[in-house]
Formats: sequence, structure tokens, C-alpha cells
Amino acid sequence: MLKLNIINEIPDGLLDLASSKDIQQIFDQPTLLNLKGVKENPLFISVLLHANEDTGFIAIQELLKKYQDKELPRSVSIFFGNIAACKEGVRRLKDQPDYNRVWPGTDHPECDETRLMQNVVDEVAKQKPFASIDVHNNTGKNPHYGCINSLEDEYLYLASLFSRTVVFFETPKGVQSMAMAKLCPAITLECGQPHLPQGIEHATDYLDTVLHMESLNSTHLNTNDIDVFQTVARVTVPKTCTFSFTEKSADILFDTKLDSMNFSELTEETVFGQIQNADKACLEALDDHEQVVSDHYFTKKNNQIVLSKPMMPAMLTLDENVIRQDCLCYLMERIELRP
Ligand SMILES: [Zn+2]
Repeated sequence: MLKLNIINEIPDGLLDLASSKDIQQIFDQPTLLNLKGVKENPLFISVLLHANEDTGFIAIQELLKKYQDKELPRSVSIFFGNIAACKEGVRRLKDQPDYNRVWPGTDHPECDETRLMQNVVDEVAKQKPFASIDVHNNTGKNPHYGCINSLEDEYLYLASLFSRTVVFFETPKGVQSMAMAKLCPAITLECGQPHLPQGIEHATDYLDTVLHMESLNSTHLNTNDIDVFQTVARVTVPKTCTFSFTEKSADILFDTKLDSMNFSELTEETVFGQIQNADKACLEALDDHEQVVSDHYFTKKNNQIVLSKPMMPAMLTLDENVIRQDCLCYLMERIELRP
């Protein structure tokens, strides 16, 4: 039975744990760790919502080690998410919903996991959080960037402190940052591929910076310092269509460097894949309202699937499981902010 464990002290062994895969030695359930700091309203941080994405977990270890012998500049409330899937080193177990799609506002039917996340939000809301940071990794080649669900100045400012690249999105629903955005400025960090030193250092430094902030006073926001993109479609490969990066007989043969197009502003007719079987081969693009808009973005030309208009993709991955379980990529357009 899934239940939220709430603790107020760093458990023995947590900071020295060699790998998040061993986290069940410390926690047997999803856990909220509340620690007091100088400033009262806590920074809420969530890690391991996707159990194979360990950068946030390691960053928390680094951060808490730094403050082992001194007071935290601000209280923190840290949520360790999908404990059950950590051992397997996978995003989620087969019988689990995605832990970043079941937060309040989700369209997932009510279940243990939706109740768990509601419980977390209720607990954190009581403490009047200062800001919320959800730490993730992704699989393809992507720059580090922050995702926000509101274009208000404080949210943009929080994002600008992490990266010049900012992504605004309104779907999928049920993500942590969208639920928390109702309570305080909230961000999802995408720290590149799991376990890499650069991502860990960047996340740790960012968490420490936000911990030290007196306020998220957005008078410091300079919109020239950020590039903001909005996701306009999520692209999947329909189940009826086979795909591969190596097998030429698949309906779609993707290029093995597909992920190098992430965060590039691509021109019309940029090739996404070679097609074998023109009737079955297709990419499906869904807009924020789950409407099929594939024809708006893709067309077939000379046995290839190509873009029908200039777009910028994000999260293109070469991982066939991720493509089947989640999606091939998101398509984005630049948002012009007022100066
Ligand atoms: Zn993730």
C-alpha cells in the first residue's frame, strides 16, 4: 500500500548512499523530508519522480552535505518520489502511472498515486512554500533548461537563474510544476542526461542560489537574458507503425543523429525519417487539447517524413523504449516577451 512517509531529520546513511538504486535501504515509501532553516517558508524540491533520473537525488546529497554543520539559509521540504522503481533504474514500473502525470490537475483517474501527490501538495501548502523546483533528466542531447507553466515575471525570473533557455508548456497535465505553480513560483529543471557531473553541479549550485534568495523580486528580470519557447505539439509514433534507428525494414527509419536537432530552429522540409511503407508510416502530433494536428507539422515527400513548417524540437531521443512509453519529441515555437 502506497503511503506518504513524513520525516523531520536526515536519516542515517542518506547522504552517503552510493546510488539512488539503493534508496530502499533508507526509505520504504515515497518520503517528504522537512528541514528547518533560517528563513521559514520552505523551498520545495522534488527528486526521483522518474526513478532513473538521479541528478536531483545526487544534488540533494551534495547540498545537504554542505549544510551538515551549519544552518540552512532557508527551510527545505524535499520529496523523494518513485522509491519503488529506483532499484530497477527505470522511469517507472510497468504497473505504475508516471509519477509526473498524477499531480493535482491531472486527467488521470483517481488512484493511490494521485492521492499521494494530493497529500504531498497539501502538506507543502501548509508551510507556505517560497518556490518549488522539480529536478529531472532527459535521454537525448538537450541543453540544460527550465520549464514553467506561467509567464508571470517571478516564474520567468526563477527560470532565468538556471538557463537562458526556458520552455513554457500547458500540457501534459498532472505535472508537479503545474500543481505547485498554484502555490508559488515553480519550475521543472531539465539537467541533461542522468548522472553526469555537469548536470549535478549545475543543479546543486542552482538549488543553493535559490535557498539564499530573500525574495524572487522580479525587478531583476531582464527579458533579453532569456529565450522562451512554447510547446505547441507532442509527437508520438502510432502503435500501428514500426520504427527503428537500425532496421531498414521498419515503417520509419530514424536518423541515428536525430537528437542533435534538439533546440535547433529547423527549416521547413527538415527530414525526420525515411519511410518504407507510406500507408503505415506516420508521426502523430497532438496539440494542447489532444487534437490531432499531424498534417499541420509533418508531410511525406520522396519517401521521407519532413517538417511542413519551421519548428524547434525538444527531447528528441534515440531511446526506443522512451519513444514508445512517452513520446518522440515536443515541437516548440518562440514566444516574444514584452521588453
Ligand atoms: Zn523526468
